[in-house]
Amino acid sequence: MEYFSGHITGLIEQLSLLPGIGRKTAQRLAFYIISQPEDKVKRLADSITTARMNVRYCRTCCTLTDAEECPICSNPRRDRTTIMVVETPRDLAAYEKTGKYEGVYHVLHGAISPMLGIGPDDIRLKELMQRLQTGEVREVIIATNSSLEGETTAMYISRLIKPVGVKVTRIASGVPVGGDLENIDEVTLLRALDGRTAL
Ligand code: ZN
Repeated sequence: MEYFSGHITGLIEQLSLLPGIGRKTAQRLAFYIISQPEDKVKRLADSITTARMNVRYCRTCCTLTDAEECPICSNPRRDRTTIMVVETPRDLAAYEKTGKYEGVYHVLHGAISPMLGIGPDDIRLKELMQRLQTGEVREVIIATNSSLEGETTAMYISRLIKPVGVKVTRIASGVPVGGDLENIDEVTLLRALDGRTAL
């Protein structure tokens, strides 16, 4: 049964497709958007379209960026001998916010999950292995989440990298099990980084 006009229903439907947005929140957002001045709504719509059109994957670390290479990879002061592997650009942002990590990153865009049918080829693992070919990298720090998927991914990567002869470490488990890196405070993140152990 539909109480609203087709346009409102359509907007609610589109919004409810977004992650973390349930039907109720989608309705609230839809009515809020409709109550706003037209030019404000247009700015919102334009920023969504422009972001989608202009944001791409960094050719080196695969994070999302506006340029061919992200600001971190193109910064000559970053230490290219250390790569921290994270699941998402949000995790990268969490570590970057601490301002204490001087190496570079690699963003997998997901984690291996046999249950969800996500295999090693579905994340940016090939790109990571290619980066190790140069012989420049001395340490790979695996900072995937401490969920089952994150641990599975960490084990898989460590087995893959060991034969290459690069040191592989895992951030300490100060990070609570199942915790997303992005929700963890900086002190805990740094403690996890400092306490990393060899895999
Ligand atoms: Zn990059």
